[in-house]
Amino acid sequence: MTQAILPGATLGVLGGGQLGRMFAIAARRLGYGIHVYAPEGYSPAGQIADREWSGAWNDFARLKEFARRVQVVTLEFENVPVETLRVLEEFTLVRPGPTVLEVAQNRLREKTALRDCGLPTADFIAVHSLDHLRTGLQSFGNLGILKTTSWGYDGKGQRDVTAADDLAEIWSLFEKGEAILEQRVDFEFELSVIAARNPAGDIACYDPILNRHSHHILDVSIAGAAEITPVIAAQAKEIALTVMTCLNVVGVLCVELFFTRDGRLLVNEIAPRPHNSGHLTIDAHITSQFEQQVRAVCGLPLGSTELRQPAAMANLLGDLWPSRGNLDWEAGLRQPGMKLHLYGKEVARPGRKMGHLTCLAKESLHAETTVRQVRDALHRMNGKSTSH
Ligand code: AMP
Repeated sequence: MTQAILPGATLGVLGGGQLGRMFAIAARRLGYGIHVYAPEGYSPAGQIADREWSGAWNDFARLKEFARRVQVVTLEFENVPVETLRVLEEFTLVRPGPTVLEVAQNRLREKTALRDCGLPTADFIAVHSLDHLRTGLQSFGNLGILKTTSWGYDGKGQRDVTAADDLAEIWSLFEKGEAILEQRVDFEFELSVIAARNPAGDIACYDPILNRHSHHILDVSIAGAAEITPVIAAQAKEIALTVMTCLNVVGVLCVELFFTRDGRLLVNEIAPRPHNSGHLTIDAHITSQFEQQVRAVCGLPLGSTELRQPAAMANLLGDLWPSRGNLDWEAGLRQPGMKLHLYGKEVARPGRKMGHLTCLAKESLHAETTVRQVRDALHRMNGKSTSH
């Protein structure tokens, strides 16, 4: 039986982004201290922390000093080098540990591990040459998605491929000589399941969240969506339970899935940390995914995953920001049931996640319509449209 890390202790988080910020807010509310370790200074998470350690991922002396000040280290960014976690493990608890991170960092390892756990994924092959790409694509009915094996998220490092494309040119862009080719899945919708597991092996799973993407980036997430029937929800949660136990995860993990037109659930990927699609848990559920992360990594009882009210979350990307001035925040705040979250990022860039809106409503369709309308209305400063 491992001892719980109780309020009053100090928690460490690797990475300074918005996930670390919302984790830090949840941890502070529970009475913990927070130290953030990130390469950049004055990060969104660092703004909330008691102490921000800016340092390189391979500055082992600094990592050791950081590790000695915290009772447990967790992460908010999955591309932290595995070696960094191994070094930290010598001095403190690291949850989740390096093994699941190593799996999640490489799409080939990830899909192979999921298959080894007996879970369904899209068909895939490893590609090491143009020949592999050609034959693989043929075997997938000439509709595939070629992805880099590492550093891929939000659709980065991937492209759709068909037999009509110039495959030699496409392959030349995949410099590392290793990629994964997946069969293009004909899906009806995408969904995600967020689960938490503590060191005692207790697991808490949220009901699946429906996700709508735009340009391969998550755009809107919906809790309580009618498309996700009780049968689909039960199957998706069962998959998440298998992932948690099979990969021995301690912490929070998100499983992203496709629901295919012929009625199957396929796992797309896993993220061993809170997830963008779970941001609505802050306002819509009894326990947020960030509080759940605190509870899981501290070895505390996990919180209720019950949905209080249907909700929809819309991301606010940097593209929304006018080149001068600000957005019409009053339009966002005026609407009943609307919650605004901003991440404290000074510079807005296209594709950069700057914040999100969550709308609570009596039913999810209304929440989705309203959150989209209000996001559009943020452009209309003084009656003038500033959209571009
Ligand atoms: P990823 O970076 O793997 O999370 O992919 C980003 C998005 O690309 C997914 O959420 C899907 O919308 C789309 N996508 C990725 N893989 C596939 C696939 N094998 N078939 C169809 N769409 C996919």
